[in-house]
Amino acid sequence: MDFDSLLTDRVLGIDASGVRRAFDLAASLEDPINLSIGLPHFDVPEAVKAEAQAAIGRGMNRYTPTQGLGELRERVMAELMTGYPETLVASGGGAGGVRGWPEDTGLLITSGVSGGLMLLMLSVLQPGDEVLIPDPFFVMYKHLVTLSGATPVYVDTYPDFRLTAERVEPLITERTKLLLLNSPGNPTGVVSTQGEIDALSALCTERGVLLCSDEIYDLFTFDEGELPSPLRTTRHAVVLRGFSKTYAMTGWRLGYAFGPRAVLEQMTKLQQYSFVCAPSTAQSAGVVAMDADVSGYVAEYRARRDRVVERLSGLYELTAPGGAFYAFPKVPEHLGMTGTQFTESLIERNVICIGGGVFSQRDTHFRISYACDEDTLERGLDVLVSVVN
Ligand code: PLP
Repeated sequence: MDFDSLLTDRVLGIDASGVRRAFDLAASLEDPINLSIGLPHFDVPEAVKAEAQAAIGRGMNRYTPTQGLGELRERVMAELMTGYPETLVASGGGAGGVRGWPEDTGLLITSGVSGGLMLLMLSVLQPGDEVLIPDPFFVMYKHLVTLSGATPVYVDTYPDFRLTAERVEPLITERTKLLLLNSPGNPTGVVSTQGEIDALSALCTERGVLLCSDEIYDLFTFDEGELPSPLRTTRHAVVLRGFSKTYAMTGWRLGYAFGPRAVLEQMTKLQQYSFVCAPSTAQSAGVVAMDADVSGYVAEYRARRDRVVERLSGLYELTAPGGAFYAFPKVPEHLGMTGTQFTESLIERNVICIGGGVFSQRDTHFRISYACDEDTLERGLDVLVSVVN
């Protein structure tokens, strides 16, 4: 039987080669200087591991309610209401049994932010719809959009990687359904300002476009003050947050989505018939994770960000990252190479970075992840400095 002939255009349209190549290389090189990894270098906090084990022992091994374990939902709601009292505390509100939680707002515990993204797109997109995606972007976005039958429309944010209303506005058409915002951003580390977000949010409201804010790196911000978010001024955006990066729980598949109830109800229905629920033990452990203090790691990443900027500025065109754990320098023009060619040349020196073409319609930059130990980063930076000289 010709199994290939069974495959859909939908799935064949996905080219996973760029990222897979980095994984394959990491496996094939002996002791590579790996600056390609998109997850924290530290391990899950001990208390979180202990709770997962205890939860298994207690019999927390069954389906949870589709919308998530009550204890975790209540904890997340309480945290959100404390963080965003102006928008998320409604007088008389009490949805989900939590006092003050607005009736028009839903919350769903998801299988990672990826799970939330997929449910959102399947809930709001249909063939012919357009989705505005900042370019450069997190690789999954464009594929989930096409899987949903919609068309990605890229908002070019080079050279400063700022997603502004001025850049978005000319691209909105009758068919635009959704705008994706990712701050702190992967692969650039750029953090939007509250002013930029408010302008985007106002534009979306005016033009009937749903704003989705992927805040998976919310705790990894390096500048003083609170993370800018649409949540500071509205509860009409769909916000996605997760445990993968914050608590190094990438394999546990846990995140949450909240926003307009009409949308969240449909996402919940789809979760019931797909993921069913987020992993039960991860949900129990998630409650404990929310007490973990990761500020020490954030301080470490801040110092590494400073180091990357210090050593590469002047040699590479580089927008200083304000968060996450990535930097996205431009390949110096005098080298005459694309991002892909440059990262291939780095491999000859045992360094793995990811070429910008994986994250963008352009292939002029490359992504460095500094979620690695200090020594690896220094050795990687030595090579990056030496190759341009
Ligand atoms: N969103 C962004 C911007 C990411 O960088 C990632 C992971 O790299 C995800 C979502 C997916 O995260 P999760 O593990 O929660 O599915």
